[in-house]
Amino acid sequence: MPWRPDADLRALTGLVAPAACAGCEAPGRRWCRRCAVELLAGGPRPWRPTPCPAGFPPTWSGPAYADAVRAGLVAWKEQDRVDLTAVLAPVLRDGVRAALACSADHRAAVAAGRPVAVVPAPSARGSRRRRGRSPVRELAVAAVGRAVVLPALVLARPVQDQAGLSAQGRAANLDRAVALAPRAARALAGIPCVVVDDVVTTGATLTECARALREGGAGAVVAATLAATARRGQPPSPDPLPRPGAAD
Ligand SMILES: [Zn+2]
Repeated sequence: MPWRPDADLRALTGLVAPAACAGCEAPGRRWCRRCAVELLAGGPRPWRPTPCPAGFPPTWSGPAYADAVRAGLVAWKEQDRVDLTAVLAPVLRDGVRAALACSADHRAAVAAGRPVAVVPAPSARGSRRRRGRSPVRELAVAAVGRAVVLPALVLARPVQDQAGLSAQGRAANLDRAVALAPRAARALAGIPCVVVDDVVTTGATLTECARALREGGAGAVVAATLAATARRGQPPSPDPLPRPGAAD
């Protein structure tokens, strides 16, 4: 049988690249145009949970965690659709930019050429081992570049998967569960940080990450997430933070 490079390449691409959109299962591409619109809807926006935990950092988020966005994130994180990292990275990049712009400390550091650290929220050890990768860290690197990402946070003790826990359960599950990684304190001393995570729900994870960074001697802490969800029956409240570029 003659070698047909085009056909062979197509066949190989079909094996490697998923044949359906991870958001809506439309055939043909990993993330379709309609789902791209949904993913980018509204751009990054300030967001905080209701009720808002004490110490919750100023946070910018992408779209609502629902429908195609939810399906895409589940496929990316739980079904190892690593090809979606490139689809999701620009959303987090925009959130990080917006978070940087809303904080005077971060703006001053960037203007002076001083470092700012993008710090991934740590994954539960069990889930990381099960997946064999750290999706949020990979996403952070794809979004802002390896040089800026500082994986400074680790879990100090085992925690349950947050999914399925109440707001109080999530807060208790994570209470003082996050710590600085060995040798991270020196790298972080006085450095403004942007904590990044995939989804913000009750704010327990971002609040705990911010606490660990502040107590570890980091500078001001803000946060950015891919998407945001509301507790059942409680719609997310818009945060009164200024738009990027506005005065603090
Ligand atoms: Zn789609």
